[in-house]
Amino acid sequence: MTLSVAPLHMVTRFAPSPTGLLHVGHGWSALMGHDMARAAGGAFRLRIEDIDGTRSRPDHVAGIIADLTWLGVAWDGDIIFQSQRLDAYEAVLERLRGQGLLYPCFCTRTDIQASLTAPHGPEGPVYPGTCRGLGDAERARRIAAGEAHAWRIDMGKAVARVGTLEWEDHPSPVRTDPAAGRAGLVKAAPLGHGDIVLARKDAPASYHLSCTLDDAAMGVTHVLRGDDLRGATDVHRLLQALLDLPSPAYVHHPLLAGPDGRRLAKRSGSIALAQLRAQGVDPAALAADLRAGRFPVGIGLASA
Ligand code: GLU
Repeated sequence: MTLSVAPLHMVTRFAPSPTGLLHVGHGWSALMGHDMARAAGGAFRLRIEDIDGTRSRPDHVAGIIADLTWLGVAWDGDIIFQSQRLDAYEAVLERLRGQGLLYPCFCTRTDIQASLTAPHGPEGPVYPGTCRGLGDAERARRIAAGEAHAWRIDMGKAVARVGTLEWEDHPSPVRTDPAAGRAGLVKAAPLGHGDIVLARKDAPASYHLSCTLDDAAMGVTHVLRGDDLRGATDVHRLLQALLDLPSPAYVHHPLLAGPDGRRLAKRSGSIALAQLRAQGVDPAALAADLRAGRFPVGIGLASA
């Protein structure tokens, strides 16, 4: 793989999950993705990652649209909703099953906790592979009996199939980012994630699968997102290789932290854009501040 020169048509995206209110960090991220595309004469797309039926809420979708519109972040084309792309995810799961790369996993959270001996990966404990060795007959019997199951990828097999992979790492546009510099290639290390779930018990696809497929389907050339998803890029690169998909460039930006030093999160009562909107904050001034790396009092870059 060679480093791409300036793409003919840059496409970036913002892909929030409608599981809570957007905070200033989301606004900052959306502005960066938007501005990056606009500066290159490209397109900025919006995708709602709403396949998590238990946590996604329609009122949060409406909130995201209202917040972005208020902040002056305009997207191109239709909004993509993951909940409307389930057939595409299922077709790919079928393809991977046909290649013998997936296996059903019947473990409960408690089973996994009880059997953990493996080290932690970038996203927490690595699945110990309990269901990897089940025989075909037992799998078929348990599925036929209606036992709830997820589908996991056999990571060892998958990595053996595609070999060594790299992804294109671009410096984030944040001027204060210590990692700012030249673009480079990063060696992907998907093995450290273990046999991750591609279809959950309670959702038809996992974040990794839907995100990778959607970025390709939307023609995204530059994925801009927070540093917390840097590890996920190794998995996405692997899925791209298995599914013959193009690999976009990746731009990971620092996260923001609140006065307590903890990263802003939807759940921690961080300053929500809706709250600033309700307080009568001038959105143009807020957008100008965020673009200049000036954040509301008490908020700053999280230490890596
Ligand atoms: N939906 C994810 C989130 O809200 C972001 C996914 C991505 O940008 O790849 O954290």
